[in-house]
Formats: sequence, C-alpha cells, structure tokens
Amino acid sequence: MRPRDECVAVIPGTGGPAEFGVAVVGAGAAGLLAALAARGAVGTDGRPREAPLAAPRVLLLDSMERPGRKILVSGGGRCNVTNASVSERDFVTSSNPVIARSVLREFPPEAIRTLLETLGVPLRVEPGGKVFPAEGYRARHVLDALLRAVREAGVETLFGHEVRTVERDERSSSFRIDTSILARRLVVATGGKSLPETGSRGFGLAVAARFGHTVVEPRPALVPMRCDPPFDLAGVTTPAILTVREHRGGKVRARVAGSLLFTHRGVSGPAALDASLHRGRLASQGLDPHVEADFWTLTEPNGPWASYRGHPKPPGVCLPEAPPPVSAGKIERFLVERSVGSTCSLGSLLEERFARRFVHALVPAASTPLAGLSRAMRHAAVQVLTSLDLRVRGDEGFRKAEATSGGALLEELDRKTLESRIVPGLHFCGEVVDVAGRLGGFNFQWAWASGAVAGRGASGA
Ligand SMILES: Cc1cc2nc3c(=O)[nH]c(=O)nc-3n(C[C@H](O)[C@H](O)[C@H](O)COP(=O)(O)OP(=O)(O)OC[C@H]3O[C@@H](n4cnc5c(N)ncnc54)[C@H](O)[C@@H]3O)c2cc1C
Repeated sequence: MRPRDECVAVIPGTGGPAEFGVAVVGAGAAGLLAALAARGAVGTDGRPREAPLAAPRVLLLDSMERPGRKILVSGGGRCNVTNASVSERDFVTSSNPVIARSVLREFPPEAIRTLLETLGVPLRVEPGGKVFPAEGYRARHVLDALLRAVREAGVETLFGHEVRTVERDERSSSFRIDTSILARRLVVATGGKSLPETGSRGFGLAVAARFGHTVVEPRPALVPMRCDPPFDLAGVTTPAILTVREHRGGKVRARVAGSLLFTHRGVSGPAALDASLHRGRLASQGLDPHVEADFWTLTEPNGPWASYRGHPKPPGVCLPEAPPPVSAGKIERFLVERSVGSTCSLGSLLEERFARRFVHALVPAASTPLAGLSRAMRHAAVQVLTSLDLRVRGDEGFRKAEATSGGALLEELDRKTLESRIVPGLHFCGEVVDVAGRLGGFNFQWAWASGAVAGRGASGA
C-alpha cells in the first residue's frame, strides 16, 4: 500500500490500524464531493469554507493512481458539469423518485456552479442548459480544482489502492477496510460498471448486496444501440424523435429528441443514447421494448417540437408527456397538396428536408413523381418517415456506456444522509445508487448532489 500525495500521512508505521472518522471509497465526482462535505469544507450553497476543528478525520481512497478519470473523459474532455435546470424527471430510477428529488434539492446545480467558480473554474451555459467550463478551461481544470480543494480541506488520500474487502466490526461499530484501515463511517462512491477502464467495475454494487441491500440490476445506459435495420445508412446523421414503447404497439414510456447517427452496427448520437436509458430499464423488467423513429417532426418549421430545432445538438428530451410527433395523416395531406400541378419526385421534395442518401436508402418510391404516387405508396413512405421500427436488438454494453442504470435501491437509504437503513454508518452516493440521468450534465449533478448529501451525513453535521 502506497501513500500518494505529499500532504498525506495515511497509514501509520506503528503496525496498528489507521483509524478515521470517515472513509470514502472512490474519488470520482461523487467521492470528491463526499470527502469535502465530510470535512465540512463546502456549504449547502456550494461555498467552500474552512474545515471546522471538530471535523472528522477523512480518508479518500481510489484504485487509480490518478482518479477522476470519468471527469477527464467527459463531454469530449470538456466536462458537461451540470445543467441549468434539473429535476427528478431528468432521471430514470426503479426507486421512489421523490427520494431522488429530495437529494437533488439538497445540493442544486447552483451549488456546484458556485463551488467550481469559487475554486477558479469559470463556467458558461450552452444551448439545452448544459453547463461547461468557459472558453480556455477544460475537464482537467475541474478535476484539478476539486483535488486541490480536497487536499486543502485536510482530506487524507490513498490513491492507487484498490479496496478488496470491507467488513463491519460490530465490537467497535466501525468498518474494517482491507484489514488495516478502520473507519467509523464508510461512504461507498465507487461508481457503476460503465467504462470499466476508468476504475468503476461494480465493487460498490457487490458491497451493497453483501450488506443486505436490494440492488436493481445494473444495465448499460447512454449507450449506442445495436439494431438490424433493413437499409444501409452508416455514417448518416439526421434529427429524430425516438419513441420507446413497452413492446411493439404498447404504452409509450419515453420520447427523446436529438441527432441520430446511423453506424455499421446500429444507432448512436444523443437521441439513441437517451433512448437507451429507457430501453435498458424496460428490458431489465422483462419487457421487450420497441424503439421507433420519427424523422419528420423536427423538420416542421412550426411543428410541436419546433423549439428543439436550430440547436446543433437538440437537447435529448425524455418526457413521457412530451408532445407526440406530427401525425401521419397530416403529412399525407401535405404530400397530396404538394403533388397538385407538380412534376417533382417524392425524393426531390424530401431532399429539401433530409440528406439525399437518407431519402434514397430509406423512402420507398422516392423516384416516383409526386403526382403519380398511389395512396398505398404515399402511406408506406410516410410510415417510414414517422414510425420506422429501428429493430433494436441490444446495446454495446458497459464498455461503451456513459452511465449505469440500476444500483442500490433508494428506499433503503435515508433521504437526508444517504445512510443505509440496514447497516448504520454505511452511506452510498453517485452512480452506485439506482439513479441514472439523461444526457446534458444530469449524471454529474446526481454525483455532486448525492456525494454532498452522503458526505455531510457521514460527518454527522
Ligand atoms: C465517456 C463518458 C462521458 C461522460 N460525460 C458526461 C458529461 O459530460 N456530463 C455528465 O453529467 N456525465 C457524464 N458522464 C457520466 C459521469 O461521468 C458519471 O455519471 C459520473 O462520473 C459518476 O460519478 P461517480 O463518482 O459515481 O463514479 P466514477 O466517476 O465512476 O468514480 C468511481 C471511482 O471509484 C473508484 N473505485 C471503484 N472501485 C474501487 C475499489 N474497489 N477501490 C478503490 N476505488 C475504487 C474508481 O477508480 C473511480 O475513480 C460521462 C461518462 C462517460 C463514460
């Protein structure tokens, strides 16, 4: 075991176990906030403050020599740190969403913005409410600022140490970590299972299960979907609204809008990633979810989703109550009206709205003159444009996923402290908990908020 930072004296050379008030396992977004909060070094408004003299001794452990790798790779190295507007409806959970709302309110987006800006990372809000570091600043500035704050708060760190065992020592009411470290309270912030090379391999999920917690089956989320489309559109990007149903023709569970990228193996891009969040959850409930694409609605100048046009990356809206796409009947009427006195083909009309390759690979009768379209041909073309079955048959798995859905059930955690209702002194935060957000900074917001709540709870403040 190697102590890392120069300011750290972790394990005493006395042969006796090191004893801490709080041990935080995992130094990702959630663990960094938990460590700061456990030292009392951040207020509920996000303002950094001096750790009080009575603050507990806090140890932050991570298996990586350089932790926080997900922060570094996030947002293409720019780190979409949060969103200007966050509610529990931006997340998917099998737990009670009211508990997620309570946690999110304890440390809202303004708090993390205040913290980062006070630590010297200016931020700016981009279309869709996404909050990024301002020009000239990147993800590494976010991580460096937080690591510096953690050190200045007197948190002791042990990086490059993979925790293998966690036992409850009933005699001392403490947790024994890898036999040599004792902590009165333990915060599990080890992430989910996505992008395992960043260090998150599901350790915390196993800890939760071993201590008697219900763990909702972890699933890859925000992940490209594999599908079997009867056309070749690899490389084509187009705006789309994806509808996720419980099964073919079944109840609508989510609608998401954004840009859709066809790949050789399926679909990717913001719309596909957001849809995968819902599809994965439904699949884990034993359903056979169905994903269909509407390509028309976002191209309507004054259509019901017009507010999502014009952004280079429209926000991925995933609201079951979002307006439905434009009806097939309305589009058919539009085609009939345009066919009067027209010699142009269906294809050339559609090329005004869609990429040529998209039109000719996908739309039946594209080369037929509008005026010569039979009702059946028109109907078939409109079906393709409004409700194409993407024939999704799976996803690209944890290696390509940006998040993990599922995890420790919220109902078994105290909403004010995220302390286990089963094992006193054990707290969970971040992606190890059964909460997964859509694209747009929501997953970090959950990590910051739940980390702050768990850390504060563990400090006894
Ligand atoms: C490519 C990519 C891009 C993303 N972009 C964004 C974005 O722009 N905005 C956004 O909101 N979200 C984004 N996300 C999601 C976001 O990064 C995660 O939701 C968030 O980082 C989760 O934080 P966490 O602290 O819970 O877990 P993690 O960041 O996974 O941290 C867990 C830490 O625990 C450590 N650990 C695990 N097991 C052990 C063990 N046994 N012993 C010691 N240490 C251990 C790991 O090394 C790791 O450092 C992105 C994710 C990916 C993969």
